Amino acid sequence: MLIQRGGLKVVAGLGISGVAAVNFLHDQGYRVAVTDSRATPPGYDQIPAEVQTSFGQFDQELLLSAEEIIISPGLDPKLPEIQTAMAQGIPVVSEIQILRRATDKPIVAITGSNAKSTVTTLIGLMAADAGKKVAVGGNLGRPALDLTKDDPELYILELSSFQLETTSNLNAEVAVVLNMSEDHLDRHGDMLGYHTAKHRIFQGVKQVVYNRDDALTRPLVPDTTPMQSFGLNAPDINQFGILKETDGTIWLARGRERLLKSSDMYIQGTHNIANALACLALGEAIGLPMDSMLNTLKSFKGLEHRCEFVKEVAGVRYYNDSKGTNIGATLAALEGLGAAIQPHGGQVAIILGGQGKGQDFKALRQALSQYAKLAVLIGEDAALIEAAVQGTTTLLHADSLQQAVQLCQQHTQPQDVVLLSPACASFDMFSGYPERGRQFVTYVNELGQE
Ligand code: ADP
Repeated sequence: MLIQRGGLKVVAGLGISGVAAVNFLHDQGYRVAVTDSRATPPGYDQIPAEVQTSFGQFDQELLLSAEEIIISPGLDPKLPEIQTAMAQGIPVVSEIQILRRATDKPIVAITGSNAKSTVTTLIGLMAADAGKKVAVGGNLGRPALDLTKDDPELYILELSSFQLETTSNLNAEVAVVLNMSEDHLDRHGDMLGYHTAKHRIFQGVKQVVYNRDDALTRPLVPDTTPMQSFGLNAPDINQFGILKETDGTIWLARGRERLLKSSDMYIQGTHNIANALACLALGEAIGLPMDSMLNTLKSFKGLEHRCEFVKEVAGVRYYNDSKGTNIGATLAALEGLGAAIQPHGGQVAIILGGQGKGQDFKALRQALSQYAKLAVLIGEDAALIEAAVQGTTTLLHADSLQQAVQLCQQHTQPQDVVLLSPACASFDMFSGYPERGRQFVTYVNELGQE
């Protein structure tokens, strides 16, 4: 069969980033087509009329006629239709690859298992506060190919392992893998596959930031590449870290220089100190003035659904950590809050469960034994979690999030904390983590009215 490529760009998978990719390529004058397995994919009405569409199944013929396939992050490149095209030598790339090709402006690239959105948002604010014309997006907020409209001098991109899987030679000005814990093993196969995808962020990188507390974040790059690190320990000269006073005060520090007391930030918990230090290191790499960065740190209130305080009802504090969609995030929340209330006799009632994504929930055992009064299990993988954490704390089951909140209320007393941090994806019961978080807040507010 003779394949007519003719420069056709085929976008596989519509949705938010697919729509941005179609529109961007169309505006650039390419012939563009799009295929999606859904009959009416989201955003089908937001693309130009002359773009060829093929919906209802992935159109193998169309994919085979592509010069290049732009794959949405939600699609697995292992899909047979994509594999068939790859076997024919057709390149399959992410929308991030298209952005890299389209601009020579510096890119700050951020990935990690957790804290990506917090760090991306915060470094974005630091850059804007320092007067940079910056565009922030990628895996968070606006899709990468929308950002070009702003004609920024600097891009700050949150990148997922899915986007990185099909991105080569990103040539970022500075890149960081914030931390590495199990996630998305259902798609990457194992930790090695996940690690390999994440570390693609360093291809061609000019400067590196890594996490001293997590060896898996340290890349193999040429010796000549400047490296800066952050960590929750005393920094060596020129590194970012923390210095502790005997009275318990924690300073964010660069070498021996004390920069800011952790209590001067709104964001709480040791994991957020690490996030702030990561931002200082990234900001330094792109030349942001320290004073300006510290001012931004003092005013940053954190993001919704990330260990967000909801309210206190009858002496019990409720926290919404719906974005805790993997074990690493849930451990940070459970250990952070648990350690804070334990000296006052408080314990955590935690709501866990949803879609487990192949994680090994035994990793929660120690923290549950140490800090949890009970765990209420919800969702598709409740039985799996129960089997993994049996014997650590009281385990209860709920059919709905509302029932879970009520059970937590019944079993807690003043000084305790109720924490929604499910360690799971939400799609079995909700449209996504924001809906799960909003419902939690609603049910907590209903408790208050009784
Ligand atoms: P991401 O975009 O990587 O999912 P977020 O900033 O949205 O990251 O945070 C996701 C979850 O991870 C939240 O539950 C948050 O409380 C938790 N978290 C934030 N920073 C860290 C960190 N440094 N280590 C572990 N967990 C963290």
